[in-house]
Parts: sequence; structure tokens; C-alpha cells
Amino acid sequence: MEIRYDIENSVIQVDGVDLYAHTLDKNFIGVCSNCNSDVNSLSYHSYESGMIVAARCSLCDTIFAIMYDENWKWKGEETISKFFNLKSSNDLRNLEGIDRKKLSTIFTPAETTSMYAKARGEKYIRQYLYRARKKYNDFEELFGIQINI
Ligand SMILES: [Zn+2]
Repeated sequence: MEIRYDIENSVIQVDGVDLYAHTLDKNFIGVCSNCNSDVNSLSYHSYESGMIVAARCSLCDTIFAIMYDENWKWKGEETISKFFNLKSSNDLRNLEGIDRKKLSTIFTPAETTSMYAKARGEKYIRQYLYRARKKYNDFEELFGIQINI
């Protein structure tokens, strides 16, 4: 089970699936396994028949994913050490869903590489991304696909 969290948008991603929060209640959840301080909930997410609660330690800021079953019985917890950005993640999925041939009709390889790098949150060459952005309208007119990276 690979868990990533987008703190800004309160979205937890479990094995590549985005789980939006259905409540952002702040409740005391338990004590931190690192420093024994209070751990408070950040967001609640339905998962399978139970629930995953993202929670943060008030002292050391460790973020945990705490799993419960449908009866709110504790099933386990994991420290969340991987984070993601929802918009970038969606951008990347959108981009990966577009046929490479279509991309290469409009964009140069350097522009495409920069678009992918931006979507992955990696370093990219601004100049190429700016050039690519100027062509997003053309791309949409031609293929009916909107790009917003
Ligand atoms: Zn702690």
C-alpha cells in the first residue's frame, strides 16, 4: 500500500487512487509514536469499507495515515513520508492520456519534455514551456483536448 498526501488540498492517494476528504474535522486521534505528543486529525477519507484518517503530530509534525474498519476499529497506521500535488498529479495523468503522436503534431520534443517535467514537478526549461503554452489553444482546436500545465 503506497500512501501519499496532498496537505494543501487534503487529498490522500492510496496506490495511485485519489481519495478526497469528506470531512476536515480536527479531533484528537492518539499519541505520536515518535514523540508521545498529541496527534490530531487533518482529514477523513473513505477507503474500502472503512476509513483512513490523515493526522498530524502537534509537536514533531509527523503525518500519519491511520486505518479503521467499518466499526471504527483501529486497523493500523503508517507514517506518510510521500507527498504529492493534486494539480500536478492530474496534469501528468492528462498528459499521459494523450497520444504521443498528437503531442508531436504540435509540440517539439523539447517542449513536450518540458511539459512532462513541469507536470512531474521536476526541473524544466521555462523557455520551452512558454513556447508550448502558446500552442495549447491550437492543440485544443485540433484535437479537442485541453492542456493546462
Ligand atoms: Zn510527534
